[in-house]
Amino acid sequence: MTTTHTQTDGPAIEVRDLRKSYGEVEAVRGVSFEVMRGEVFCLLGPNGAGKTTTVEILEGYRDRTAGEARVLGMDPAHGQRALRERVGIVLQQSGVQTDLTVAELIEMYGRYYSRRRPVDELIELVELGEKRNVRARYLSGGQLRRLDLALGLVGDPDLLFLDEPTTGFDPGARRQAWSTIRSLCDLGKTVFLTTHYMDEAQHLANRVAVMNAGQIIAIGRPEELGGRDLRPAEIRFSLPDEWSLGDLPDLPCERRTLEGDRVLVLTKEPVAAAQRITTWALEHDVDLGHFSVSQPTLEDIYLELTRSVQENEPAQEVVR
Ligand code: ATP
Repeated sequence: MTTTHTQTDGPAIEVRDLRKSYGEVEAVRGVSFEVMRGEVFCLLGPNGAGKTTTVEILEGYRDRTAGEARVLGMDPAHGQRALRERVGIVLQQSGVQTDLTVAELIEMYGRYYSRRRPVDELIELVELGEKRNVRARYLSGGQLRRLDLALGLVGDPDLLFLDEPTTGFDPGARRQAWSTIRSLCDLGKTVFLTTHYMDEAQHLANRVAVMNAGQIIAIGRPEELGGRDLRPAEIRFSLPDEWSLGDLPDLPCERRTLEGDRVLVLTKEPVAAAQRITTWALEHDVDLGHFSVSQPTLEDIYLELTRSVQENEPAQEVVR
């Protein structure tokens, strides 16, 4: 059996006051976080926030200017083989040899690892069975990304870095990729994900960190990020022409207003408010249209957080 010196307990990733400057540009300015084993951790942020720099330091592709970084208990800057064996990386741009078939590529990449997953198992995992013997140059964009995922998993890594893994996927393929990624965590793998898709972060991530201008401005579970769970719920509906906002009964709410032709009620007691609105409507035979109750989405919170920093408000770290 091959032994490695990677730790099997403790966080998968630990970062303390990480800094990186490119000449005058301070791309990463004192970032600290931990990623637990078996979790999907998602790094979000606008273009130029410092995500790629952070990830590439953790992958061992870039040196840091200052701070501490540990990946599976090892310093990625030292580039040990033991670490490379335990980490899988799926980049946005794959550089596979397009004249080789799916099976040949997985077989070839597997030779770099002492521990590896069987070719057929990987092909099944990424649902490329029908393309097993097709050359990479004849795969669609989405199929190529799935092949990339299989190649990232070929060494049976404990930690997988995924950079925008579903760009170019059709909706069905995205759902399938999400389920594959989640099943990796059920096997105890850790996934470090960067994406610009908020629904992907919402669906996959146990925790999300939002980076802006080289700093982490919020970190937490997707449903709690930036106090999302404490925000008022939004009840929306339309009233028939003969009824107006003033006709509604007293409601437990922060605010009620008109948004176009829809009523918007902001409330921290959505069940009670919805019950009063619907009881009133039934008693008065009022036909409420498009009735919905929702919480602010992850995208709403993300845009709010990143916008407030861009508008030069003081950056507040919201740790949940
Ligand atoms: P994106 O979402 O666009 O990929 P990002 O969050 O990954 O952005 P980085 O690529 O880490 O951002 O870049 C952070 C900052 O560092 C940017 O201002 C960028 O211009 C700068 N930068 C990145 N790489 C270099 C480099 N090799 N030399 C000089 N500046 C760089």
